[in-house]
Amino acid sequence: TVTAGKPGVPHAHYILYYLRSIFINNEWYTSSKGRTFPTFNPATGVKICDVEEADKEDVDKAVEAAKAAKHRGSPWRRMDGSSRGRLLHKLADLMERDRILLATLETLDTGKPFLQSFFIDLDGSIKTLRYYAGWADKIHGKSLPVDESFVCLTKHEPVGICGAIIPWNFPLLMFMWKIAPALSCGNTVVIKPAEQTPLTALHVGSLIKEVGFPPGVVNIVPGFGPTAGAAIASHMDIDKVAFTGSTEVGQLIKEAAAKSNLKRVTLELGGKNPCIVFADSDLSLAVEETQKGAFYNQGQCCTAASRVFVEESIYEEFVRSSIENAKKIVTGDPLDPQTSHGPQIDRQQFDKIMDLIESGKKEGAKLEYGGTSVGEGSLFIQPTIFSGVKDHMRIAKEEIFGPVQCILSFKSQKEVIERANSSQYGLVSAVFTASMDRALSMSAALETGTVWINCYNALHAQTPFGGYKMSGNGRELGEYALAEYSEVKAVTIKLSETM
Ligand code: NAD
Repeated sequence: TVTAGKPGVPHAHYILYYLRSIFINNEWYTSSKGRTFPTFNPATGVKICDVEEADKEDVDKAVEAAKAAKHRGSPWRRMDGSSRGRLLHKLADLMERDRILLATLETLDTGKPFLQSFFIDLDGSIKTLRYYAGWADKIHGKSLPVDESFVCLTKHEPVGICGAIIPWNFPLLMFMWKIAPALSCGNTVVIKPAEQTPLTALHVGSLIKEVGFPPGVVNIVPGFGPTAGAAIASHMDIDKVAFTGSTEVGQLIKEAAAKSNLKRVTLELGGKNPCIVFADSDLSLAVEETQKGAFYNQGQCCTAASRVFVEESIYEEFVRSSIENAKKIVTGDPLDPQTSHGPQIDRQQFDKIMDLIESGKKEGAKLEYGGTSVGEGSLFIQPTIFSGVKDHMRIAKEEIFGPVQCILSFKSQKEVIERANSSQYGLVSAVFTASMDRALSMSAALETGTVWINCYNALHAQTPFGGYKMSGNGRELGEYALAEYSEVKAVTIKLSETM
């Protein structure tokens, strides 16, 4: 009923009813407060549709559904691990079937280029589901050699009801990073998509129902942070909350968890990620990867390569090649397959980024490329490169979350390690060098949850992801994430006689 995007563009001519509703118990509900909120296409500013707004009452209803779904004797509780795995595989199958629809919706709602939605977000989402589908019947404890005549077994049980609060930069992928390990371990879920980007999550709700997950296993509550999000973080019956977003909100989530029922918390927060380029590296590879790191998803990544330290002897050449490389980026309609750079998510983010760009100029960094918006009133910002960036500048310290590459220079390995680590964040880092010996010493010295060597944004479902310091707590993905979604139970049995 609502046309999304520019008139004449043959896409999403109508938005299905379910895309506007709250998903609880495999059914679609209107808001208990009778409120809706609009979601916009950031590339055009056109409203896509209004979505039912979940608040505390709706979260309560979703938690009741999730509680009933995990109750002793419920179909979900009694389901074999292998059957849970089959359901996750089936969900992945349906996402493959609806891949074009999902990628189009993701592009409309976020402004990210269609081919990136189609190949990267969808691929990562489907692979995450399949990876955790494989784990579902392989989650088990140990038999422990204990003192005296006892036998001790450990069992890995689901935590219970898992709340999840996710951001707008990778709406579908973050949805899967949360639900896939949670369901693989047998939990039930109440998940809140970001208010800017609720649509793909709601389409996945329809697929969850089609797959045949029992009602209440996954519940989706679109709404705002201080209402629906806060209700999840402080709910007395939610056993764990997984959050991805800003460090400030991460602190509020942890506080709310502590003040309510001490629910477990995992946090995936911001970063000010150092990339270190040594003079012996493959320069064109380093230029390409660091720039992909800085500009991918319009710079709206917690992993953004926002501090590029380049060894003094190759600094000028690196800056020159980075400018040449940036000229190849095609800014435009995200639905056009030629486009590699779309708009920022909303006016608030746009203003914050432009303010940081201005601060960079004022504080004496050299604007080498870009630095302005594209077109009057749009949310597009040109890929921007600053050289001569110093550690004390705001652009070198604050998370920009926009397409701004800051290039700094360094003289020695010791010095660059100190500078790279002098941040409150510790999410990811990257090292470019031909020497594996140096790469390994650097990987030991850098205080980040991920170190990429001669690559960037190399994320895999099998590899744990998470931050040191104020970049977060806990790990997502890989076998490590299973521990975040399981309780360990020790069963100790007294033997009547010792053999
Ligand atoms: P945010 O942290 O405010 O929002 C992320 C999620 O948290 C959304 O679902 C939001 O509704 C929810 N939320 C907000 N306030 C909440 C509260 N009080 N209680 C519970 N949930 C709450 O992020 P933002 O405002 O959309 O972006 C601000 C900055 O955060 C960005 O500029 C960027 O630096 C950072 N950010 C980081 C990531 C990441 O992937 N780590 C993603 C988005 C934003």
